[in-house]
Amino acid sequence: AQAKESMQFQTEVNQLLQLMIHSLYSNKEIFLRELISNGADACDKLRFNAISDDSLYEGDGDLRVEVEFDEEANTVTIRDNGIGMTRDQVIEHIGTIAKSGTKEFLSKLSGDAAKDSNLIGQFGVGFYSAFIVADKVTLTTRAAGTTESVTWESDGQNGFTLEAADKASRGTEIILHLKEEEKEFANGYRLRNIISTYSDHIPLPVKMLKQPTPEYDEEGNVKEDVEPKAPEWEVVNKANALWTMPKSEVSDEQYQEFYKHIAHDWQDALAWSHNHVEGNLEYKSLLYVPAKAQMDLWEPEQRNGIKLYVQRVFIMDDTKNLMPRYMRFVRGVIDSNDLPLNVSREILQSNKTIDSMKKASVKKVLGLLGSMAKNDAEKYQSFWDEFGKVLKEGPTEDASNKEQIAKLLRFSSTHTDAEKQDVTLEDYVSRMQEGQEKIYYVTADTFTAAKNSPHLEVFRAKGIEVLLLSDRVDEWMISGLTEFDGKQLQSVAKGELDLGKLDSEEDKEEQKKVEDDAQSLLKQLKEVLEDKVEDVRVSHRLTSSPSCIVLNEHDMALYMQQLMKQAGH
Ligand code: ADP
Ligand code: MG
Repeated sequence: AQAKESMQFQTEVNQLLQLMIHSLYSNKEIFLRELISNGADACDKLRFNAISDDSLYEGDGDLRVEVEFDEEANTVTIRDNGIGMTRDQVIEHIGTIAKSGTKEFLSKLSGDAAKDSNLIGQFGVGFYSAFIVADKVTLTTRAAGTTESVTWESDGQNGFTLEAADKASRGTEIILHLKEEEKEFANGYRLRNIISTYSDHIPLPVKMLKQPTPEYDEEGNVKEDVEPKAPEWEVVNKANALWTMPKSEVSDEQYQEFYKHIAHDWQDALAWSHNHVEGNLEYKSLLYVPAKAQMDLWEPEQRNGIKLYVQRVFIMDDTKNLMPRYMRFVRGVIDSNDLPLNVSREILQSNKTIDSMKKASVKKVLGLLGSMAKNDAEKYQSFWDEFGKVLKEGPTEDASNKEQIAKLLRFSSTHTDAEKQDVTLEDYVSRMQEGQEKIYYVTADTFTAAKNSPHLEVFRAKGIEVLLLSDRVDEWMISGLTEFDGKQLQSVAKGELDLGKLDSEEDKEEQKKVEDDAQSLLKQLKEVLEDKVEDVRVSHRLTSSPSCIVLNEHDMALYMQQLMKQAGH
C-alpha cells in the first residue's frame, strides 16, 4: 500500500475553506443536508451504473445513507453505500482541483453570512460545508467494483492527507470531528430534527440507530439482569418520491421543501405544476418556476435543470433535451414509464418519447405562467422582472408556441414612458388609434436612448403608442415575433414611414409640398455625403430634430450590426 501523502488545496479551495471555517455561522446545520445529498447522489449514480452492470451492487442493493454520532468522541458520521470514489476521484473532486463553481461562488459572496451560506448548494461546493462544524474531517471511500480504498483527511487549514485504507464495504464514510463549540450536533434529537427538515423528500432512506426501549419489571423499574438489545437502524426521513404521490396528499410545505432540495435554492418557488400523465405516454412531472434567477442563468451551461427519472430511477440531470433554452429557469422532475432504464445521453437527443414529454411540459409551464398572469398580476410581474429576458428568447426559439408566449411578454412603452416592463401586447392593441394597423416599436441600447429617440417624435405628436425596447435580447425576440393578433410589428426606425390611414388628406398634401420645396437641398446633401449614405429623403418622422438616420426595411438593426461586428463577422 502507498504511504501517507500530503497534498495542498488550490488557492480558491483554501479561500473557500477559510470562509466555511470562519464566516458561515448562521445556518450551520446545512452541512448535514449537503453531506446527505452527496450520499444520495452517490446512490443514484450507483443505481444508474448498475443498470448495465449489476455486479456493482456486490450483493448489497439496499441503498441508503446512515447517520451516526458519538457524544463522547464529539463526532458525527455520515455513511452511504453508493458509488464511492477511487483515489484519483478523491483528489479530483474534493482535493486539489477547484471546480468551476468555486471561483464563481467566491465572486458572488456578499459578506452577509446568512445569504452566503445559502449559496453553497448552488455552486457544487457542498462537501466543504463540513468544515463549518468540524475542525477535522476524515473521509474513507471505496469505489464500487474496485478493491482499493483510501482515507482522505483534512483540518481545512493545512491541505489534506491521503492514505490507503481497508474499507470492506462499498461507498463513502465521512467522520466529522466536531469543533468544541459545535457539540450540540452530536445529539440524536438534533440530528433527527435536521434530517426531517431538510431530507424528508430525498427518495432514499436516511437511517439512524434507534436505542432499544429497555425492558421493565412489574414495578416499572428497568430490568437489570437482561442483556440489553442491540440498537437497530431506523428510517428517519419520509423517503418518498414526492412526484409519484397524488396531488391531494402533498402539502404546499412539502412541495416547497422538495423544490429547495432539487433546485439547491433556499427560497420558496413561485409556482409549480404537478402532473400524472396516462395514455399514449405515461409519465409524471413536477415542474417549478423559481422566485429568483439562478446565478448561472446567463452562463452557456447551467446546472440542475430538469432531473430525468425512469420508473423512479434517477437517470440524469438534463437541461438541454427536456426544456428549451428559453425555459432554462424551470426546475423539476420528469419520471417516465416508457423509456428504457438503460437510456443514454445519445438516445435522449433524438427520442420521440423525450420530445413528446418536452412538448407537453413546455405547454404546462406556459399554462402555469398564463394563469399566474391572469390571476395574480403582481406575482407574474415579479416573475417577469426576474426571467422576462429569458422568456423573450421564446418567440424565435419556439415558433410553435409563439402566440402563447407573445401574450406573456411585458414591455415598456410610450404610454407611461416608465422603465418598468408591464405593458402587454393585448394592452397595446386595445389602445391602438382609429386607423392604426401596426404595432410600433423602437429599439436602442438603453431605455433612456429608446425613450428619447428622435424617431418617436411624430408618434408622440399623433398620440400613437410605441413599445420601447432596450434589452439585449429584444432584436432577437423581434426577429421571431413579426406579428401579434394579426397586426404586424413595425420598427419606427426602418424603411419608409407610412402611417397609412393615420395621416389625414391635409397631412399628405402638406408633406408633398415640403418634399417638393426640399428637392434642391436634397440634391446638395447627396453630393456632399456621396457614398456614405444610400439616399437622402425628406422625413415626416421628425417634428423637432433636424435629421435622423434610417435603416432600410431589410437592414439589420444597428444594434445587431454592432453585435455581429463584436463577434468578428
Ligand atoms: P456537488 O455535489 O454539487 O457536485 P460537492 O462539493 O457536494 O458538490 O461534492 C463534490 C463532488 O465530490 C461530487 O460531485 C462527487 O463527485 C464527490 N463526492 C462527494 N461526496 C461523495 C460521496 N458521498 N460519494 C461519492 N462521491 C462524492
Ligand atoms: Mg453536493
